[in-house]
Amino acid sequence: VSELNSGSPQAKLRITEIFFSLQGEARTVGIPTVFVRLTGCPLRCSYCDTTYAYQGGEWWSLEQIAAEIAKYDTKYVCVTGGEPLAQSDCLQLLTMLCDTGYEVSLETSGALDVSDVDSRVSRVVDLKTPGSGEQGRNRVENLAVLTRNDQLKFVICDQNDYMWAKEMIIRSELAEVCEILMSPSFGQVEPSQLADWILADQLPVRFQLQLHKVLWSDEPGR
Ligand code: SF4
Repeated sequence: VSELNSGSPQAKLRITEIFFSLQGEARTVGIPTVFVRLTGCPLRCSYCDTTYAYQGGEWWSLEQIAAEIAKYDTKYVCVTGGEPLAQSDCLQLLTMLCDTGYEVSLETSGALDVSDVDSRVSRVVDLKTPGSGEQGRNRVENLAVLTRNDQLKFVICDQNDYMWAKEMIIRSELAEVCEILMSPSFGQVEPSQLADWILADQLPVRFQLQLHKVLWSDEPGR
C-alpha cells in the first residue's frame, strides 16, 4: 500500500478495471453506472469477492480515466476497490468527477480517514463485523463526519454479526447519522433469515441483496 501512496507530480492511480454495469448495492441500486476499481487493499476480509484487485492493475492518469468514463452514457460513477482511499490521488479523482457533473459514490472499507473526501460524494462506508475478521480496523472517528448524503454498510456473516450490528445501530443511534445498509454475506446467511431478523427487531435499515451477484454470480467486471 505504501508503494501505491508514493506520490508523483502528476496525479495517477493504479486501476484494476473500469467497467459499465448496474449498480449492485446501496441507494442507487439498479442504475447503469460506470465503476472505477482501484487496485490494492490493506484489509483481508474473510468474504472478500475482489481479491483479484489486491495486486496488479495499471497506472492511469486522471485524464485517461475521465476519457474512459465518458464512453458510457450515464451520470453515475462509483469509485471502488480494493480500498480506493489507500491511494492518495483518489481524492483528486473524486473531486474531478464531481466537477465534471457526475453523481459520484465511493465504496470504502471504513478503515481509512474519509473526512477529506469531497462533500459532493456519497461515501458508502463499511462497518466491519466480527465475522469479517477485520473488525479491529474500523476507524470509529469516521462516524462523526458522516452526513445524510452518506451511507453506512454492514455485511452480515452470521447471527453473531447481526446481533453486533444491531447493538451498534441502537447504541450509537446510527440511523440518525445516515442511511444504514445491511446485506447478507453471499453464501453464509440466507437472505430470508436476515430479512426476518430485521423485521422482528424493527431495525431502521435498508436490507439489500447484491444485485450483480444475483444476475452474474462472481464474474469480475460485472
Ligand atoms: S475491504 Fe473490501 S476489498 Fe478490502 S479485503 Fe475487505 S472486502 Fe476485500
